[in-house]
Amino acid sequence: MKSVRIEPIIENGRLVLLVDVVCDCGQNALLSSQTGKHEVKQPIVMGKSIPKVVLKCEPGCGKTYSLVSQENHLHIFSD
Ligand SMILES: [Zn+2]
Repeated sequence: MKSVRIEPIIENGRLVLLVDVVCDCGQNALLSSQTGKHEVKQPIVMGKSIPKVVLKCEPGCGKTYSLVSQENHLHIFSD
């Protein structure tokens, strides 16, 4: 990925990270497996484990990036 922008907010007393991944090709607002939309701010609720969220550069170069939230940290990796 070219860069990741993370905006922390508190929502209903929980820490939520709004994550924007910029693909290697320069595109952002990647297609989210969680919402089925192109997300500029993919919400990731911290403090609980959630299924892996895959962001795909679609339409675009097709690369995918995974967000994996665990109890107290977030992994972001390119597939
Ligand atoms: Zn791309």
